[in-house]
Amino acid sequence: MSTKSVMIKCPKCQKEHVYDTKNEFRPFCSERCKLIDFNGWASDLYSVASEEGGLSEGQLDFGDD
Ligand SMILES: [Zn+2]
Repeated sequence: MSTKSVMIKCPKCQKEHVYDTKNEFRPFCSERCKLIDFNGWASDLYSVASEEGGLSEGQLDFGDD
């Protein structure tokens, strides 16, 4: 019985790598690519939210006093 490797492309860097269910970063090739993609997505959301809300950092600070 031979082990068949399924090659997939990393959505971030387009590098071909073996699809491995043990790879916690799949479908990305590495932790780095996964983090880069996530950070890009998160900063997009953040900029949209701050543009629509027009909130400054001071207004986001809800203190108890
Ligand atoms: Zn990659």
